[in-house]
Amino acid sequence: MTRFRVGSATDTGRIRSNNQDSKLVSDNLFAVADGMGGHQGGEVASALAVSELRAAVHESSQQALTEGFRLANEAIYRKASDDPELRGMGTTLAAMTLIENELGQEELAWANVGDSRIYRFRDGELLQLSRDHSLVEDLRRDGQLTEEEAAVHPQRNILTRALGIDADVEIDSETVAPFVGDRYLLCSDGLFNEVELDRISATLRRLADPDEAAAELVRQSNEHGGRDNTTCVIIDVIDDDDRAGVASAALAGDESGLDSPTRQVDMTDHEAPVPPSPGRFGDDSSRDSDLPFGQAKGQGQEYDHLDRSTTRHITWRVILFLLALLVVGGVAFGAVTWYANGSYYVAFTEQDEVAIFQGQPEGVLWIEPEIDETFPDLRRDDLTGVQQERVQRERTYTSRDDAVRAVETLEFEVTEAERQAETPTTTAPTTTAPAGPADPTTTTTP
Ligand code: CA
Repeated sequence: MTRFRVGSATDTGRIRSNNQDSKLVSDNLFAVADGMGGHQGGEVASALAVSELRAAVHESSQQALTEGFRLANEAIYRKASDDPELRGMGTTLAAMTLIENELGQEELAWANVGDSRIYRFRDGELLQLSRDHSLVEDLRRDGQLTEEEAAVHPQRNILTRALGIDADVEIDSETVAPFVGDRYLLCSDGLFNEVELDRISATLRRLADPDEAAAELVRQSNEHGGRDNTTCVIIDVIDDDDRAGVASAALAGDESGLDSPTRQVDMTDHEAPVPPSPGRFGDDSSRDSDLPFGQAKGQGQEYDHLDRSTTRHITWRVILFLLALLVVGGVAFGAVTWYANGSYYVAFTEQDEVAIFQGQPEGVLWIEPEIDETFPDLRRDDLTGVQQERVQRERTYTSRDDAVRAVETLEFEVTEAERQAETPTTTAPTTTAPAGPADPTTTTTP
């Protein structure tokens, strides 16, 4: 029987007025939800997500977990459509539950939508199991942002997937084999946006009590700024149905088996160290034979077997997902680029010359506006106060021609003003003379 010790903590933080995060800690089902939407929308959405999930998952299977996500999505979507006050609300949901796989073995299944995260802390290493469904993560995966840039990107709160936004939702879900000593962390972005991963690791290493560790992580988030709600659920595996014991016995058995004549014959076919003999935990050795050995960090055969079957099970889905992500990322990238580069505006350069810029005045994401053409003869000083204001408004045009026309208008106004200013000394005598007194220059001078 797999058993857990669980701790959790949540806090509004130091800036926000309400806590839109929700968490779920029950015997074998754990979740964190991070709601969004004006008024009370975020709170309603995240609370609904965990209550619907809890009501829906009454069977220990991965299907029951993902079905719970689907039902939660429907419930939030329906409520958002019915209540104008809650329109547009949505939430992330990251959850984990104990299941029994088709071989009758206990495993952990996790599922995720949005950018709350699921980490596994094992052997002192923190590994993110879930994938963020955010614009910044898409750009990072696309190679357009580094890990460091993504971590501090101003648009990192833009989600590409959330519960309650659409009638249907795509859910990520996988299974993992739990071992005694494993520590799982479910958290909202309030944590990892404030606290560096190294520090999260150090805290998980230092504090054995899950409640203490969760409270300490929330405290660190607030200490660093607490700009968002922070929620942590920590799940420690304290009994794994002797999974670890069986695994090490399997390793020990293989080592002691080296002395027997039959094992020595086997040895001639292998490089040391000897992989545990296939078939010890089942007879589908042929299924395993084409997979690389060693991804189980030497934990032994059973874990190895379970992890491999899980990997095989999800591979095609992962590929499909990555393809979909590429398409979505490509479309998003194209849209942003089009929006950023598809407009022009007139403004002053740093040298106070009038210029046509391509792009949006404030820039869009990573795309800054660029100077398309400068007009050195048209300087800030040449313009009247009203004209300067007109330029400073930085009105955007959808075509370059319109921007050129705006500059031409300015040029025309300036030359016209100059012409009128010059009028008295050059042409005034002839044009104003008929009605004027003896000395025309004195009457037309302002
Ligand atoms: Ca948040």
